[in-house]
Amino acid sequence: MSDLDKCPSCGGPLEQDQEVKETVNVGNNGVLVSIRADVCKQCGELVLTQEMAEKLEMARESLEEEPSDMRVVGHVYEYPASHA
Ligand SMILES: [Zn+2]
Repeated sequence: MSDLDKCPSCGGPLEQDQEVKETVNVGNNGVLVSIRADVCKQCGELVLTQEMAEKLEMARESLEEEPSDMRVVGHVYEYPASHA
């Protein structure tokens, strides 16, 4: 839980200590990370604690190293540009 009780972006009310999945992307790869954060009810902004920000940073580093301790849960496709 953060020290804030209002959204830093829009000033809206925060829902405290929510469990959310945040995607960290490196190039075309992404990793879903379960974190706890305060979530703005108005704009959806996530307010992270230092600990959770570090968790996301560690996930990013793991992804860059092509880790063996993460399992593949989906694929990312590129929609053909010709299908406009
Ligand atoms: Zn907000």
